[in-house]
Parts: sequence; structure tokens; C-alpha cells
Amino acid sequence: MMKRILLIGTGGTIASEVTEGGLAPELATKDLLAHIPEISEICRVDCVQLLNLDSTNIVPEHWLMMARCIREHYGDYDGFVLTHGTDTMAYTAAALSYLIQKSPKPILLTGAQKPIGFDSTDSKINLTDAFRCATEDLPGVSIVFNNRVIPGTRARKTRSKSFQAFSSINYPYLGVLQGGVLLRYIRQECGDAPVFYDALDPRVALMKLTPGADRAQADFLLEQNDALIIESFGVGGLPEGGGFYECLHRWMDAGKIVVLTTQVSNEGSDLGVYHVGRRLKNKLRVLEAYDMTTEAVVAKLMWILGRTREQAEVERLFYQPVAQDILWPADT
Ligand code: ASP
Repeated sequence: MMKRILLIGTGGTIASEVTEGGLAPELATKDLLAHIPEISEICRVDCVQLLNLDSTNIVPEHWLMMARCIREHYGDYDGFVLTHGTDTMAYTAAALSYLIQKSPKPILLTGAQKPIGFDSTDSKINLTDAFRCATEDLPGVSIVFNNRVIPGTRARKTRSKSFQAFSSINYPYLGVLQGGVLLRYIRQECGDAPVFYDALDPRVALMKLTPGADRAQADFLLEQNDALIIESFGVGGLPEGGGFYECLHRWMDAGKIVVLTTQVSNEGSDLGVYHVGRRLKNKLRVLEAYDMTTEAVVAKLMWILGRTREQAEVERLFYQPVAQDILWPADT
């Protein structure tokens, strides 16, 4: 029997049209389907128009809406396709990976770099591929884009214009599509039923370190938020002058969470290597991202802080792998 797939529209370029003010999502989910009539040979599709936003306007409350929508319809469909803007798709994919864990059914995000109505567009192939994947044995949350399947916790937008918009960071692709056929390399672990979560703490900030950065930035962000992620240099560390160490010490004593990661895209952090990092790790006990993407760290902290503020529990949950988000330090 033909599989039943739910298409959930949230906006993005794929649904955009030319307006006086620039490209903006205008097309309804049903209009997207009208561009790929041959989909009726692959699966039966129902549509939900959840949002119609440029993904720049997506906030954590929308992630909760998406997870709720999937939860409400979970029993009625074999798989889920969410259309979404590419700009923040990696954050949404990570957030959904924490909000919906161990799903035996596929939950796929896709979008496009060019609107579906344009002559040269990646919309149709991406959407068709996502539907194909939704009918396969491909558990968990993933992104389907430009013939590749990327785990939801490992995606990053690495190209702003060309069709190969996303990379899988520190983890292989789950599969590739060749001529519409999925070659699955990796099957994500799942349970018999998904585990849904329905709370996030959005008070998580991110600071990119620059040479000579003023620690007052960290002070301000820690005052305003429950957690701060610092994207530092190389394998990780902070300037030894300028009062960074004392600043973090004070806020961590007050119960704030600090995570050190790297601004280098590949291979992750290793804070213990250099003098500029080891003291942060051993004495302050800041958390470190290791091979997790910054997008995943942001979403994971929001998920964790939506559950607990107890520091030891935060640390335990942070290092506990969810949906292949972290390989290291479990292996070291
Ligand atoms: N600005 C658009 C968005 O993220 C870009 C895209 O979808 O490719 O909604």
C-alpha cells in the first residue's frame, strides 16, 4: 500500500515569490505540491500549513510548534517532510533532533536555494527526494538536500548561494540519492516509539571570539542568559589577560553554564591541549563541545535547560550522545 506522508510547510525560499521588497514566502504548501504532480506515484501526501516565514524569523517557540504538530499526527502517517528556509534549517533540524528522539519514522527537512517557481531551481528535486526518503526505512530527524541525507544534529549551511548548501560536520552522510534511489549508508538508532519533549529554554547566547575581544561582552551575555557558548579559536582556549577567566568563574559560581567550542568548522575542540584552554577545563570545569556543531550545542543547551538547572545533571546530559550529535569524548 502507498505510504502516507505529512507535508508541513514553514516557508523559506522554496515557497518564496518575487515581491517588491525582495523574495518572501508566499506559496502555500499545496502550491508546492502542484509543482511536482508525479509525487502521487510515490506516496499519498496531506498538507499542513504551519508557518510561512523566512527562516531568519524562526524562533525556538516555532520549533516547539513543529514538534507538537508531528506529535499530534505521528500515529496517522508513515513519515514527515518539513519545508523550511535554508538559513536556519540546521538549527531547526538540531532542535527537532532533541525534541523528538528515537523516532522510528523518518522526519525530513528540506528547502531550496531557488524558489520553486524559478526556471532554474533545486526545489523540485529536493522536495521529491525528501518524499522518497520519507517512504524509506530512515529513522530519526535528517536534512535531505542536493541528493544527500545529513543527520539533523550534524548539518551546517556552508554555502550561501549554490545548490550544495549543507555539509555534514564531523560525521558521514546517512545516504545519498542517485537518480531518485536512496543509497542508505547509515541507519540512525531508534526505538519502537519516539520520545517527545515539549520544553526549551531560549536563554542561550553565542559569542564569537575575536582577537582583542572585550570580556564585557561575555559579562553582558551571561547576565542576560542562562548559558553562554563561546566560539573560540582552534582546539579552544581564551585570552589569558583581560579578565575572561575571572568573569566566567564568577558567573559559573552564580549557576550559569559556559560551553567552549571552536569557530573552525571541522574536527572540533580539544580544550586540554594548550595552556590557554586547560585551566578552563580542569579548574573552572567549563563544558566543551568536542565534535558537536555549534547549531547542535545551541539546541542541546536549550533542550537541557528546559529540563533541569542542576549543574551536574546539565553536564551529564550535555555529554550524553543524542542522535549522533557527539562521538567524542565517549571514545577517549
Ligand atoms: N532566507 C531564506 C530562508 O532561510 C533562504 C532560503 O530558504 O534558502 O528562509
